[in-house]
Amino acid sequence: MVQIIAVDGPAGSGKSSVSKAVARKLGFGYLDTGAAYRALAWAVMEGKLSLPGADFNGFDYQISLDPNNFWVKTFGTDVTEAIRDPRISESVSVVAQIPAVRAYMKSLTLHLVAASDFPGVVVEGRDITTVVAPDAKVRILLTADEATRLERRAKELTPEQLDTLKVGLRERDAIDSKVVDFLKPADGVTLVDSTELNFEQTVDAVLSIIREH
Ligand code: C5P
Repeated sequence: MVQIIAVDGPAGSGKSSVSKAVARKLGFGYLDTGAAYRALAWAVMEGKLSLPGADFNGFDYQISLDPNNFWVKTFGTDVTEAIRDPRISESVSVVAQIPAVRAYMKSLTLHLVAASDFPGVVVEGRDITTVVAPDAKVRILLTADEATRLERRAKELTPEQLDTLKVGLRERDAIDSKVVDFLKPADGVTLVDSTELNFEQTVDAVLSIIREH
């Protein structure tokens, strides 16, 4: 059995970079579950698949679980960069609201973990601690207040991009949190609020929770 470290959190909480760093330190795999939702939104946009009513067996998807070599492929195209496009971020939450999509994503995630060669995988998303792996030994909710999340992202952006991001991030969290609650920890889930922590401190906080378990 491949061990799962479940990490959930809102957009911009730093969960991807923190999960990746934790996976490296432990020699574990890293699975970004949002990438599959994004790749599906990309495939729909490109006319490769139509929703609702899609046959998910036809969703051709591969992702690397290696924290040192991350890539995402769908329908023969490397979409590692393309799925970060703002147009995808704007439409992905709509795709993620469809119950059949969520059910499919759960089985896809568990399949990817089971098929991996790592002793454990840090799996990050929105519903990993509650729906995908509610029985995982270590379940963490990583948050930061909204101003801090925006500030962290803002470092890489122009003022116009920042305005778009502000609206986008709020809207995405609002839609996403209607489907799954990733703003409050569920029973047995440990909260790590990184508002007052820097990157290293956040990684250490997560590692010490893992060690405790
Ligand atoms: O984590 P990321 O921002 O890349 O996720 C993109 C979108 O995928 C989220 O906004 C959400 O709509 C969806 N998602 C989800 N459940 C997950 C991971 C992502 O609904 N476990």
